[in-house]
Amino acid sequence: MANSERIEQAVEQLASLPTIGRKTARRLAFHLLRLPEEHVQRFAETIIAMRREVQECSICCTFTDTTTCPTCANPKRNVLQICVVEQPSDVLAIERTGDYRGVYHVLHGALNPLDGVGVTDIRMRELFARLESNIEEVILAVNPTVEGELTTQYIVKMTQPLTIPITRIARGIPVGADLEFTDEATLSRAFIGRQPV
Ligand SMILES: [Zn+2]
Repeated sequence: MANSERIEQAVEQLASLPTIGRKTARRLAFHLLRLPEEHVQRFAETIIAMRREVQECSICCTFTDTTTCPTCANPKRNVLQICVVEQPSDVLAIERTGDYRGVYHVLHGALNPLDGVGVTDIRMRELFARLESNIEEVILAVNPTVEGELTTQYIVKMTQPLTIPITRIARGIPVGADLEFTDEATLSRAFIGRQPV
């Protein structure tokens, strides 16, 4: 029997986060207990405010505090060049390379029939709606995984009648890797070496 039900409840919540095991969750709970109460209050309020106020950009679907994200709202960006990624963190990774001047489309996942993730579970409809205007290039920068490959194939198949030039970033990214954790130089090279699909 645990000495504190409250601690056990907090551990359970913390352990529900990705990459946090029960041992780490317990260490975090003890750490929070030793902090001044105002500090913990601020911590909790920040998380709640983030959850409440962050929304998806009405154009590219990335996470943002405003209806349109700063990238989509930037008149210096080429809105006719759309880079398709799986996650908002991938946008940050590509922005860090400093090379790309186009805009993005965030799918919020990849097709994964085995896990029941279909076309309507990710922002695929929103992507196709954007492709109805005259687009110069669609750059596929999804992760080099089975799901990423499936997503690429689906987009290529569905956009064939539109004759939009579609490229995909080069294979410098190791198979199974996450774009988010790829170093800037590799990602930059993969971008420059992108190939028509
Ligand atoms: Zn946007």
